[in-house]
Amino acid sequence: MTRTVRRHSRKQGSEMDSTRQGTMDDKYKRPSSTGHQYTGLKYLVEEFTLVSPEREVNKWGRGKRPDPRYKSTPTRSLGRELERATGQKVNRASLSLLGSYFSKYVELVNLVLDRIYAVPGRLDTLGEELSSYRGQGYTLLKKEEYLAYKENEDIKQQCFERMYRNVLEQAARITLSDWMRRQLMSSAIAHVSTDTDSLLQLLKNRYIPSKMIKEVRKRCNAIEDNGSGYYYTASVLRQLRKTLDQHILTELEQPLSYRSYQRKRVSNYLRDKSMSETVLRLAEGLLANFSTEGYPFSTPQMLSYTEDFSASTENSPGQGYWYSEDPEREDELFLFLKLPEPLRGTEHGASPYRTRTLAFRFLDWLPRAAEKDRGKAAVAEREGDRHRATRLRFRAMKFEDMHQQLMNTVGLQHATYQYARLKSRKEKDSEKMTELQEKITRLRKARKCGPPRLLLRGDRVVLQIPFLPPTREMTDAELGGTRTHSRRAGADRGVRVPVVLSTGDGNGGFVDEMISFGELLSKRDLLRQQTRGLTSQVKKMRNNWERKHPDRSPPAHLLKKERHLQAIWRKVRRLDGEIARQVASRTVWWCEEHGVRTLYFENLKNYSAPPGWGTLSWRLSSNLWSKFLSAVVYMRQSLGHKYGGVWTVSPAWTSQTCHVCGGRGVRVENEGSTEEKRGGEYFYCETCGVHIHADVNAARNIMCVQRPTAVGGRTA
Ligand SMILES: [Zn+2]
Repeated sequence: MTRTVRRHSRKQGSEMDSTRQGTMDDKYKRPSSTGHQYTGLKYLVEEFTLVSPEREVNKWGRGKRPDPRYKSTPTRSLGRELERATGQKVNRASLSLLGSYFSKYVELVNLVLDRIYAVPGRLDTLGEELSSYRGQGYTLLKKEEYLAYKENEDIKQQCFERMYRNVLEQAARITLSDWMRRQLMSSAIAHVSTDTDSLLQLLKNRYIPSKMIKEVRKRCNAIEDNGSGYYYTASVLRQLRKTLDQHILTELEQPLSYRSYQRKRVSNYLRDKSMSETVLRLAEGLLANFSTEGYPFSTPQMLSYTEDFSASTENSPGQGYWYSEDPEREDELFLFLKLPEPLRGTEHGASPYRTRTLAFRFLDWLPRAAEKDRGKAAVAEREGDRHRATRLRFRAMKFEDMHQQLMNTVGLQHATYQYARLKSRKEKDSEKMTELQEKITRLRKARKCGPPRLLLRGDRVVLQIPFLPPTREMTDAELGGTRTHSRRAGADRGVRVPVVLSTGDGNGGFVDEMISFGELLSKRDLLRQQTRGLTSQVKKMRNNWERKHPDRSPPAHLLKKERHLQAIWRKVRRLDGEIARQVASRTVWWCEEHGVRTLYFENLKNYSAPPGWGTLSWRLSSNLWSKFLSAVVYMRQSLGHKYGGVWTVSPAWTSQTCHVCGGRGVRVENEGSTEEKRGGEYFYCETCGVHIHADVNAARNIMCVQRPTAVGGRTA
């Protein structure tokens, strides 16, 4: 991988050679998973960095060493020299062209959205149709006269049909989710305006009770009442609450300030007997207004620079996008992207299909990662660490399978293309055609990766490819025999460790495990510390500059500092991903060892750390935790568990209840004490007198929270 920007020159010397550097440069990218909208099939998404075709991709461990000449060269000429030696990261012309392509794409999606929202009633019809339609959304949208490609000259002028199909698909997804949001909002308004208790609960409490969320969801016909849409409903309720808060404060002629202050003040007013009547009346007035006039929604807009090709049905060369293997370099692939001409701002020529093809190169790191894992597995086997060996072999198998899927896709694309060319020839080579036909039939049935997604991140172009997770049979074959998963396990965020796990041992007892952070956490803390100083420095510098020279752009030294800060943040996020992955990996394999079928997590949507916890070694931010959760889901999916076999449940009372007798208990200092201490490490039950580690107790409780309060297959 070539994407890492180094902030320090590499240390030269015999003991620090590049093949031994323990950087994360060629570790695989942070995994994420995505669900297919209609089939519910989950894919495992991996990332590849695109570079210009002439660039040499640096492969670790193949005797590559940084050139010592670069050590003392100032940054700018270093960049130029590197470019001369290895080619540009991404061709600047390609990058600007791709940038304009993306902005065109976004512009068109927004144009389609504007047309849908321009006439009242269109959204309702479309939303209802989309929500009950099982196919791809663009097939519905293209039937509308005001959106059809053929009937709209202005759209025809701007893009060609294939790209427009992706535009429509994207617009269909946005429309559907916005329509659902609107439906939920009217249910929410109907729910709280008829029931004063609910309204009080919504405005007074910090957390939105899950009972209310479920009732609103149940009221709404747009959402099937099968456990889906829980968080979506919660976010709608939060939006409504925000509008109410702001209305109340404006009416009372109070400054709005930060969101958290708004929340605090409104909830304080409601606790204040002299104020509560007025505030409640204000809220009810606005709600009554909403139920007659409707909630003031805004037209949704697409903002981000991404395009996915899931509406592209043509995956063969010459159409839209295609891959091609580099015959000269090992494990390197080209991605070709066909862009329509008008995107460069010029007029259409005679044919709308005059296009320009962009070429990129990327390293298919999968086989190398697999090979590396096999090597490590052999070492682990020799050292007697059987579990580690199994884990590594499994990962190697997964990477090999992904590589195979990519190769199948490439093979199919090329075979289809060749076949089409042979077919159009005058003298037909029937033998070759039969051969190709067979190949196509075979590859159609084979495991293949899904249509990719392209992302523009600053000056980087990233390709995300979704892969099918390994099947149950593949996993079983790799892990030896059929595994049985019957147990449930609970996971709790610990006080001193990130995760505490607990499951039954089959004989009425429990098995517990505390999973701690690796040494990466201290590295992260160090970086985080740096950002604090730097952030205030940059802020001060920027403020000063803007005050003194309001109409001049900031000086180079300030911009440099800002770039430095951004670079540190990038590093922190990268480390976050790696930490989350490590913790998740240990969690997941512990679950495999103990035959865990369902893993319960506390639902952290409304989470905030108790006072005093900031000083403990526990520093798992919500961001990190959500990364951890998605990593667990990803890994368990790849192990063949449906939806990752992960449920989130309400953590209410799990830390105060005794898991043995169900009585209320208190936090105490240590295993011997009975005196309550806030934030103490141990749990003491006054009813049955049991002493137990507080996190273990919570984990055991979480496992037993009843199913109906849980949201199936969903994570925070
Ligand atoms: Zn008890």
